[in-house]
Amino acid sequence: MKECLFCRIARGEEPASIVYEDDETMAFMDVNQGIRGHLLVIPKSHYTDILDITPEAAEAVARTVVKLAPPLKEAMGADGLNVWQATGWNAGQRVFHFHVHLLPRYAGDGTPFGKFARVSREELDMLAERIKRHLKSTEE
Ligand code: ZN
Repeated sequence: MKECLFCRIARGEEPASIVYEDDETMAFMDVNQGIRGHLLVIPKSHYTDILDITPEAAEAVARTVVKLAPPLKEAMGADGLNVWQATGWNAGQRVFHFHVHLLPRYAGDGTPFGKFARVSREELDMLAERIKRHLKSTEE
């Protein structure tokens, strides 16, 4: 069995367009952009889902979600955001390492779920850089 993809990303063993990381968490562009700017936030340690994660690890993830929401919204010129977590295959979970989706939303964009489209690494890197520029401006 292949080792967990998100554990490999957390260790820098798989390519990812990283927007932010600290000791406990990492945020990177989802390779399947449900909507342009679609980000994932993960704990660096492996937890399967919301039933498995510790409150402490969930708190670290929540802190990163809160930190990234303003720069993501500004960078993408979004009207709003969705924060979404899936636990289990029937809830839409496809990678079994806990992750929170952060999705910019725009007037009239329709539901982003079910129309996820894979995009190029170049596009993901460009989006990650754009959000990072706004992240820096909020820290000054
Ligand atoms: Zn993992």
